Amino acid sequence: KISYYNGQFKNDDEITVDYNDRAFYFGDGVYEVVRVYNNEFFTLDEHMDRLVRSASEIGIEGLDRARMVEIVTELNEKNNIDDGSVYIQVSRGIGKRNHAYLANKKPVVLAYMNEISRPTAQMEEGISVITADDYRWLKCHVKSLNLLANVMEKERAIRAGAHETILNREGIVTEGSSTNVFIVKDGVLRTHPANNMILNGITRLEVLKVARDRKIPYEEKAFTVGDLMNAEEVFITSTTQEVTPVTEVDGEVVGDGSKGRITHAIQEGFDEEIHKLNLV
Ligand code: PMP
Repeated sequence: KISYYNGQFKNDDEITVDYNDRAFYFGDGVYEVVRVYNNEFFTLDEHMDRLVRSASEIGIEGLDRARMVEIVTELNEKNNIDDGSVYIQVSRGIGKRNHAYLANKKPVVLAYMNEISRPTAQMEEGISVITADDYRWLKCHVKSLNLLANVMEKERAIRAGAHETILNREGIVTEGSSTNVFIVKDGVLRTHPANNMILNGITRLEVLKVARDRKIPYEEKAFTVGDLMNAEEVFITSTTQEVTPVTEVDGEVVGDGSKGRITHAIQEGFDEEIHKLNLV
């Protein structure tokens, strides 16, 4: 495959990364993952807007959004991937290790593509999750390269034989280690409001759009671990997981243990959004 680092497109095996890249020392940067279906980007504008916003939140200003769109578009043409994703990261720059920002350093862009497929079995059968304390920083709306807590908490799920860890702050469910979380309670869809406690997922926003289109009532209102345990339905969302039902939380069965009615309707609506890509 062809990838991109610091101004150049190269074969994967020819790319060398500068060890003074601040992404390497400090996780000093931001990133995005964009889904590619049938060789076309899904919600590219939303992801690029969020990348620019994340960068600006950590003081990386003046990102050339148009250039980044060009980079990923060129990558997609070169790699010609049908079903996959593109990863794009922007670091603050390259320079000797020093906490202080270095003057006049230009952001460094890294981008590459993966071949992946839709998690169809999990989207039908559902997954199990565990809950854990959310001890991350208070700027979770920034899609930062610093994912130490997220990777540690994902690993906790894997070791417990589950698929995802759902985090909570003093009993309030925020999000998953790499996903947003929705519950259905009294027929109403509910998810944490988009503030500094969560990453406002692009898939989350698509789900809310589908809910509006399909007249499914929803609230962006925080809920507790107790609400999660007693929910009629639970699902998680992300660019790669799409809309995946949760059938078990901390070993307790959710609802009747199978994908719920509202989850199914949301999946159908999301599928329609994906299939619109082929119509243009
Ligand atoms: N929350 C976190 C912490 C994430 O890492 C992700 C995915 N990167 C999401 C939510 C879901 O976001 P999206 O739907 O944009 O992939």
